[in-house]
Amino acid sequence: MTGYVFPPAPQAAVPVDDGLLFPVRRIFCVGRNYAAHALEMGGAPDREPPFFFTKPADAIVTGGANVPYPTATANLHHEMELVIAIGTAGADIAEADVLDHVFGYAAGIDLTRRDLQDEAKKARRPWDMSKGFDHSAPIGTIAPASGIGHPAKGAIALTIDGQPRQSSDISLMIWSVPEIVAHLSRLVQLEPGDLIFTGTPEGVGAVKAGETMEGMIEGVGTVTAKIVGR
Ligand code: MN
Repeated sequence: MTGYVFPPAPQAAVPVDDGLLFPVRRIFCVGRNYAAHALEMGGAPDREPPFFFTKPADAIVTGGANVPYPTATANLHHEMELVIAIGTAGADIAEADVLDHVFGYAAGIDLTRRDLQDEAKKARRPWDMSKGFDHSAPIGTIAPASGIGHPAKGAIALTIDGQPRQSSDISLMIWSVPEIVAHLSRLVQLEPGDLIFTGTPEGVGAVKAGETMEGMIEGVGTVTAKIVGR
């Protein structure tokens, strides 16, 4: 029997609507999953296979807690997204079986250092530091699929200080929830606790210290985060 050289980090967790906690294992994110957002980023809205990047589990921010404006950026962007919460392990999952692996859904914001991401794209470098920084994944409570089902359509929107910034419908996702989960499960074995951010619609833009983001997904839930100065 040996002990840790220092205490392990606390388990990252997201509140579930019923009051229990969903322990977070990994955070996967889909890039470019709405045609109108692909266009605004200078890309093509075709059905190229979905691609993924990751954030550390402890990047989540829950309970509407404040988000410190990150270091090393002058262009922090909001990306409002539907989040899938995996409840049952699986690899090489068939699309028809995907919903059996989904515990529930939440509203989340994929915060992005857009200036660093633009530099990384130009230099053909990884996105880690533009996407996976501390406090980069505010998320609302998880609604179990046993209560809300599996949403395939419904409004998705984000406001800043009450002003509309993003407004779309999750039915406009290029890749659906079953397609995303099936594809990702061919790249990694999915495990309970994995979260998947499914991409953002158009209207992304800068958010500044002192501003409050409020996001909603019809039939799923809400997410709130205030950016504060460091
Ligand atoms: Mn995103």
